[in-house]
Amino acid sequence: MRIKELKILIQEYDRIEELPDLEQKLLEKARTAAENAYAPYSHFNVGAAVLLENGEIVAGNNQENADFTDGLCAERVALFYAHATYPGTAVKAIAITAKNKNGFLEEPAQPCGSCRQVMVETEFRFKKPIRIILDGKNGIQVLNGADSLLPLAFKPVALD
Ligand SMILES: [Zn+2]
Repeated sequence: MRIKELKILIQEYDRIEELPDLEQKLLEKARTAAENAYAPYSHFNVGAAVLLENGEIVAGNNQENADFTDGLCAERVALFYAHATYPGTAVKAIAITAKNKNGFLEEPAQPCGSCRQVMVETEFRFKKPIRIILDGKNGIQVLNGADSLLPLAFKPVALD
C-alpha cells in the first residue's frame, strides 16, 4: 500500500484591484451576469464569464425552471455558449461569482461537481489549463486548472 498526497495551489487576492486588468474585467462581467440571472426559486444568482483565446468574453448566469431539474448553472451556460459560438477556440479563464438575498457571497463561490466536470472536459478538449477565478467579498481565489477543483476526474480518454 502506498499513500499519495495531492496538493492544490490557490492564489488568494484580497480585492479585485489586485488581479491583472483583463481578469478584473472578466470578473466584473461575471458580477453583471449574476445580476441578470433567472433565479426566481432559489434567489441564488450566479454569474460566470469566460475568456477565450481569441480575446472574446462570453458571460452566462444560472437559468432556473419550475421543474427544477431543467435549470442550468451559470458556468455551463457560459461554457456551452462559448463553445457553440466559437467552437474551435480554447478557454483561457473563467470567473465565477454568486449572490444570495444578502448580496455577493463572503467566501469564494464554488462551482458544483457537474460544472467542474465540464471544465475538465474543456481543458482536455483544447489541451490547455483554464485559469479559474472564484469571487468572494472576503477574498478572491484563483486556481491554475480544473484539476485543482476536481482531482482524479473522469476524463474522455477513459472511453478509448
Ligand atoms: Zn454547476
